[in-house]
Amino acid sequence: MKEVLEQALKAQDKDLCDHCLGRPFAHVGTGTTNEHRGAELRLLINDRRAEEGLEPYTHQRCWLCDEMFEQVPRFAEAVALKLQEIKYDNFLVGTRVDPVVQAREEELWSLVGQEFAEPIKSELNREIGKAVFAITDKDVDFKNPQVVALVDTRFAHVELDVAPVFVYGRYRKLSREIPQTKWPCRVCQGKGCPRCDHTGKMYQTSVQEQIGDIILPYANAKEHFFHGMGREDIDARMLGNGRPFVIEISNPVFRALDLASIEKEVNEKCKDMVEVEGLRFSTREEVRRIKEATPEKEYRVQVTIHGKVNKGKVDEVSRTFNRTCIVQRTPVRVSHRRADLKRERHIVYVVLEDFQEDKMTLRLRTESGTYVKEFVHGDEGRTEPNLSEMLGVPCTVDALDVIGIIDNSEV
Ligand SMILES: [Zn+2]
Ligand SMILES: [Zn+2]
Repeated sequence: MKEVLEQALKAQDKDLCDHCLGRPFAHVGTGTTNEHRGAELRLLINDRRAEEGLEPYTHQRCWLCDEMFEQVPRFAEAVALKLQEIKYDNFLVGTRVDPVVQAREEELWSLVGQEFAEPIKSELNREIGKAVFAITDKDVDFKNPQVVALVDTRFAHVELDVAPVFVYGRYRKLSREIPQTKWPCRVCQGKGCPRCDHTGKMYQTSVQEQIGDIILPYANAKEHFFHGMGREDIDARMLGNGRPFVIEISNPVFRALDLASIEKEVNEKCKDMVEVEGLRFSTREEVRRIKEATPEKEYRVQVTIHGKVNKGKVDEVSRTFNRTCIVQRTPVRVSHRRADLKRERHIVYVVLEDFQEDKMTLRLRTESGTYVKEFVHGDEGRTEPNLSEMLGVPCTVDALDVIGIIDNSEV
């Protein structure tokens, strides 16, 4: 305390409130507040001044904060009032402080040192947080607050930054006509034009909208974002155990969603188009995991054979692809939006499921990112080796389904 006093004595020329006098020494010890520490320091300073025959070091109006801490109850009331706009279980307070005040604080640090100092913002956050807790009885959460109330201390204005709700599930897409995510019209970029029939969209609906638009009213929210573990082509169905996804609901008023009944509602309303299962609450971390995952996929592909080949030959060729690598140049159909690259992809297996003269059904498992249609037809030699080439007759894809996402990373 002796050293602290020596440092504090250097602040005597400034009129400081107890908070601002104590705060440069906030981290000297625990179990007390800045205000209390400031009051103690003032007594010690005044003992010293008395010894030296000086007037006491008194306080009228704080040079640093302009008595901002007297307004803490007012800030807290403004926060509590604003928080009534949403349903929440926990919160955190943040503050915006006039840069002039922060500059004065730094000036004080240059006098008394900043080794043990706490910034004014963090004291304000804490003091307002305590006062809000007293009013609302909701807990402060430092790690994952459902809402951050941002107080602009100049105007006692409060803004809410509401954490999104994340919902994990797996979806099946039973339609070959809809994309996974909402797709703005290419012509008008979403504004609405004759090309899109003034919908602003390339497709009437999507997996994202089928699921998200049902959740929105329950959350009293306006916007959703969709994070899929990869995506299938629009004309491919997504079957089997479904594809993992997380849907993110921004700015929810309500977050205690009844996911079981939402799941039921999606499955009833979106029949023949989208099915979901295993809906549960998720996190931003899981979104990251889902975006980074590279699961193997299992496909069923219906193929037309343009020429003569027998079943034995198809079986034999299928087997030669087991545990092999193919090299794929970026397909013609996506080359307008992706860089022209050569990539090696692993084929785990190819199995002939059904064969009829000029039609066949194959089941195959491949590494993440394999272009399966191109593997079948060869893409003008851009995929090597490919099925058509190995069979010696051209093959085309009639229909493709994803029948399994082999996600071993799920926790
Ligand atoms: Zn002050
Ligand atoms: Zn349009």
